[in-house]
Amino acid sequence: MTDLLHMKDNYLQTFDARVISSSLDFVVLDHTAFYPEGGGQSSDIGTLTDGSRVVPVVGVRKEEGEIRHKLDGEPFAIGTSVHGEIDWKSRYECMRFHTAQHILSRYLQLNYGLETVGNNITPGESRADYSPLESFDDSMKRKVEEGVNKIIQQNIDVEVRFMPRKEAISYLEKRGYQIRYLEMVPKSVKEFRVLIIGDYDVASCAGTHVANTKEIGGIQIGKSKNVGAGKRRIYFKLLTP
Ligand SMILES: [Zn+2]
Repeated sequence: MTDLLHMKDNYLQTFDARVISSSLDFVVLDHTAFYPEGGGQSSDIGTLTDGSRVVPVVGVRKEEGEIRHKLDGEPFAIGTSVHGEIDWKSRYECMRFHTAQHILSRYLQLNYGLETVGNNITPGESRADYSPLESFDDSMKRKVEEGVNKIIQQNIDVEVRFMPRKEAISYLEKRGYQIRYLEMVPKSVKEFRVLIIGDYDVASCAGTHVANTKEIGGIQIGKSKNVGAGKRRIYFKLLTP
């Protein structure tokens, strides 16, 4: 099992680890700061080095119970000590996008009763799907953009808290989070990672986030399109702080 360092420290950019499994094109490490693709957030990229050569990490995925670092180069042998460095530009953008998406989702829930049914957090442009939403005209778009940016500009602290399962579910429910998906999480999961955006929003989320909303800058909502069954996909970009 790989210890996921980014779960506790979203700002960790480098780390030292040992290779515990090695295959044709990937390695598994005893711990890592690389975010594996999941929860709608794209994988980190970066490099691993053993001191004599630097090998690009082109993607990290959870497969067959392992966190696999896919390499563009010959994998390191089991037991090798490696130094990892994540591509911070791409990751930090994901952090800003992911926290922005939570705020956008909460805004649409509070003001329009919409539920978030999907998301894709990736550098450049991210998106999320909302239901029930058939149309999203320019005046609603501007209103939402302005409302979300006002929240972002409040410089709200963002906190990650680990809570025992029962406590997490009751806390999230009290604060208006949709808990029905959480109850489907296997009972073997005893601890939840709870993301708290001040008094504004809470969520159960394994993704990486900024520590304060001021780091986001703002969002600019782009196009949107229907994706079936009353769902609408909204694209957005980041504005530099
Ligand atoms: Zn999230």
